[in-house]
Amino acid sequence: MAGTLKTRRWLRASADVLLPVLEVCGGTGPRLVVTAGVHGDEYEGVRALYELFEECGELRGELILAPVVNPEAHRAVSRVNPVDGANLARVFPGDADGTISGRIAAAVARELIEGASFYIDLHSGGVRYAMPSMAGYWLGDARAREAALAFGAPVIWGHPHIEPGRTISVAKERGIPFLYVEAWGAGRIRRDELLMMKRGVRNVMRHLSMLDGALEVPSPPLRLTGAGNTDDGISAGCDGFLLLEAALLDSVSLGQRLGRLVDLQGVTVEEYFAPRAGVVALTHEMPIVAKGDTLFLLADIER
Ligand SMILES: [Zn+2]
Repeated sequence: MAGTLKTRRWLRASADVLLPVLEVCGGTGPRLVVTAGVHGDEYEGVRALYELFEECGELRGELILAPVVNPEAHRAVSRVNPVDGANLARVFPGDADGTISGRIAAAVARELIEGASFYIDLHSGGVRYAMPSMAGYWLGDARAREAALAFGAPVIWGHPHIEPGRTISVAKERGIPFLYVEAWGAGRIRRDELLMMKRGVRNVMRHLSMLDGALEVPSPPLRLTGAGNTDDGISAGCDGFLLLEAALLDSVSLGQRLGRLVDLQGVTVEEYFAPRAGVVALTHEMPIVAKGDTLFLLADIER
């Protein structure tokens, strides 16, 4: 494990877009690639990767960290890229001759994800949504489930399908095991979630034998299953001000009211009911809602 080398470099996604890459190389071993900032309004993962790089000592293999893969969106506090309006998590594997998001996706896919032996993408609820502290994985890959359990987040969520366009869909296409991670969000960094992400990445490094030592898993996770596509939740039919009645990780019954939308006079213009029993796995915490916004996403508890 001697001879660990730390390097800060830039990955050129296009003529005027450079992505920061932080590498810790410790010789032969797995190559763990971790990205953050795919959505520009999510900051927990960014800080986690800066600190992981600073704090990383000797390891086996290579730790490749890309803390801000969508720099314009990051600076603009925006989920989508402000230059082309695209959601970077819907355009992978990208297009090297396309718009800025396509070019970023192509560079990240080719230069980072495709060379990984394990891949983790750090997300959060961003400024509009709230998400549980969780590790998400594809049910079709037993290696990923083992890693999700090793990660040590309070919630793990197994998905039967991974929709195309994601960073993780590139990994799935290549047969590379992967996780994605979520946290509360709100444009702020909660200390417990920062620690959850850093501990989780280190746990995966232990799981992959890149680090010595026992896993640090505070408690067995709540295990969720079901689709996790934030585009397919319960959405707003009009603009308004949201009064949430269900909270994150509440168990709700079929037909239970989850919240309502009011106009400027406080008159209810829409109500939202659970289409089935489940667990609330995403809420639109920002009260200002635009038509089409996803307001709630339900998951199921694994039996
Ligand atoms: Zn995200």
